[in-house]
Amino acid sequence: MRAQVLPLTTLTAFCRRYCAPRACHFLTFARHHLHHRSSRCCTLSLSQSSHDNDLSRLLSGFHCPLFRMEHSVARGDSARNKAMVENLRRYGVIMSNRVAEVMEALDRGHFVPDDGSSAYVDTPLPIGYNATISAPHMHATCLQLLEDKLQPGMRALDVGSGTGYLTACFALMVGPEGRAVGVEHISELVDVSVKNISKSAVAPLLKKGSLSVHAGDGRKGWPNFAPYDAIHVGAAAAEIPQALLDQLKPGGRMVIPVGTYFQDLKVFDKNEDGSTSVHTETSVRYVPLTSRDEQLGGY
Ligand code: SAH
Repeated sequence: MRAQVLPLTTLTAFCRRYCAPRACHFLTFARHHLHHRSSRCCTLSLSQSSHDNDLSRLLSGFHCPLFRMEHSVARGDSARNKAMVENLRRYGVIMSNRVAEVMEALDRGHFVPDDGSSAYVDTPLPIGYNATISAPHMHATCLQLLEDKLQPGMRALDVGSGTGYLTACFALMVGPEGRAVGVEHISELVDVSVKNISKSAVAPLLKKGSLSVHAGDGRKGWPNFAPYDAIHVGAAAAEIPQALLDQLKPGGRMVIPVGTYFQDLKVFDKNEDGSTSVHTETSVRYVPLTSRDEQLGGY
């Protein structure tokens, strides 16, 4: 029986700050275990866990608004979106005021399929075509990693743009003088993302043309507007696409999940001399960066 959907990353961050190390260790274990076991969801069903008692003890008396967010949610609810951002802040996931402002301005409810239930829960959600919208904590993490390269006037590429949420965030950050480009190989999702963006705070940028979403194989990047200060890849690459490194500006940064079953979020910085430095940020679980046929066939 499914008792309650819990945002495990948020809980882990909270525990790291306020709770016993044992509880934190358990939640970290549960999050990683579930990431690797069920590919697209970092949620835990309380009643299924042999650690029910640990969690129940941990949560008793713990007043967390996120736990109440799974009840029916109308599309676009700015108060709930704000509460979601505030919670991510409180648990130490969002540390940047600018990222918090952007995530507050762009209502996640405008970007998730209209089932009215989980828009403001810290979890990835299915968006059709064997794809997911990433969890809010992953969006926040990627925005913070790229923040310096998303200054007004800069150029950003979002590969595997899906719902268009992160492309919209990029557009807001680089502003009308910059350029935010999404590339998605499922053309139906491109259409959906354009509709989503049209309901959001960056609709004028879409009209103006400084924000655009294109159907195509994102492994080839989008050369028309290259080079980019920031490149985000929203699907896991078995190998780093050379075209993306080539389209990164010297001084630019690319954030990309790398791997197949076990994946790392890697950060590539292109130095002024054209060489690249790379570091691993954290382990993650994304859908693969692949061909349209392979994705629609279920990988
Ligand atoms: N970042 C988006 C979507 C993440 S899911 C969001 O949060 O809404 C990953 C997306 O990458 C999916 O929409 C999938 O269709 C897309 N994708 C996978 N391989 C791709 C490729 N080769 N080219 C373009 N898009 C790709």
